[in-house]
Amino acid sequence: MTSVAVVGTGAVGSMALWRLAGRGIPAVGFDAYAPGHDRGSAGGESRIFRTAYKEGPRYVPLLREARELWAELDRGAGRRLLTPVGGITVGPREHPAVAAVLAAARAHDLPVEVLTGRRAAERAPEYPLRDGEVMVADPDAGYLRPEPAVVAAAAAAEQAGARILRYTPVKEVRQDTTGVTVVTEDGGEHRFTHAVLAPGPWARRLLPDLPIAARAITSTWFPRRYETLFDPGRCPIAIRVGEPAYSCFPSMDGAGVKVNLHVPWRDLDSPDALERSAPPAYVRQVAAAVAATLPGLRPDPIRVATFADAFTPDGHGLLGTRGRTVIAAAFSGHGFKLAPVFGDIVADLVETGTTTRDIDHLAPNRPLRRSP
Ligand SMILES: Cc1cc2nc3c(=O)[nH]c(=O)nc-3n(C[C@H](O)[C@H](O)[C@H](O)COP(=O)(O)OP(=O)(O)OC[C@H]3O[C@@H](n4cnc5c(N)ncnc54)[C@H](O)[C@@H]3O)c2cc1C
Repeated sequence: MTSVAVVGTGAVGSMALWRLAGRGIPAVGFDAYAPGHDRGSAGGESRIFRTAYKEGPRYVPLLREARELWAELDRGAGRRLLTPVGGITVGPREHPAVAAVLAAARAHDLPVEVLTGRRAAERAPEYPLRDGEVMVADPDAGYLRPEPAVVAAAAAAEQAGARILRYTPVKEVRQDTTGVTVVTEDGGEHRFTHAVLAPGPWARRLLPDLPIAARAITSTWFPRRYETLFDPGRCPIAIRVGEPAYSCFPSMDGAGVKVNLHVPWRDLDSPDALERSAPPAYVRQVAAAVAATLPGLRPDPIRVATFADAFTPDGHGLLGTRGRTVIAAAFSGHGFKLAPVFGDIVADLVETGTTTRDIDHLAPNRPLRRSP
């Protein structure tokens, strides 16, 4: 009978456990910490959900399924994990990312609108356009609450019969012809028919042969000048492309508005060595971006926090099988929104060895060059 170890119960691992347990497949999660912790990729209060996907139209069907699964998780948790406030991409009309958003929308008939002038100012007064810029509005976008979402998925999994071994780091996963052995740091050995590796930014430790880089992403929160702006019940999430480039969220707690500047992320030897703060040069850069483009914010940050994530050289994650092991890793800074559908695909791969969903672009054995 099938039995599964899920190593890592962060965003993707917790969703995989939820989907496996929901199918009646016995599953045990292992985590070095506990679901909902903020030392991996899933900390920092908010995540963007969007459907007109500049990373490629082939993600759109996955995003549609993810949205359904977020709604299912919401219903089970009895709280809103995905808040559909809509989203905008702001930038020069001819910018390739604007073109990519429009191409994804066209390919899948998504109801996006291109706004300028008064219509843009009415839709999102927080984000004034500069000369030559447009606003592309995606009504199916919104924001996710990452820590409660991971806690909710883990709780749903446990309720459906999964077990989670918290504060139990895994040292090694060995597979042979009849099953897999999970060896924990405390010397335990656990036997299953299959394993799922969802170790987030720690991926290199369990998957040393794959070209996965751990990187640090810094979030910075700025105070609002006006209480009416960045309201979490109304303000869309935003991605600004061009110069400067960043993502920006409504104010979750009324105190600060989170801005993630899009710069080359800093490489990390290990997420365990993550510096939680950020270099002054980075803080000056994000403060200058706020001063130049977000007049509703005061440009001195009130909070700075850095998180780790795992990246592949081509910016697409790794999802597929290797013998009795499913690899679900390195979602490259944009995997949270897709975590429920990735979790369901993991369950397909465990149950049948294949999936009907289009994930060829995520194949772990695709040609990938190591980053320079
Ligand atoms: C600052 C920031 C902003 C982001 N913004 C967005 C966004 O707006 N929208 C979006 O869609 N995505 C976004 N992402 C990306 C998204 O958050 C990640 O792709 C996603 O969280 C990856 O999930 P994961 O399960 O792979 O990793 P994680 O959530 O980090 O989970 C990995 C888990 O594995 C455990 N683990 C690792 N190794 C072991 C081991 N050996 N033994 C036991 N346990 C182990 C860890 O403790 C952890 O719980 C962002 C990421 C960051 C860092």
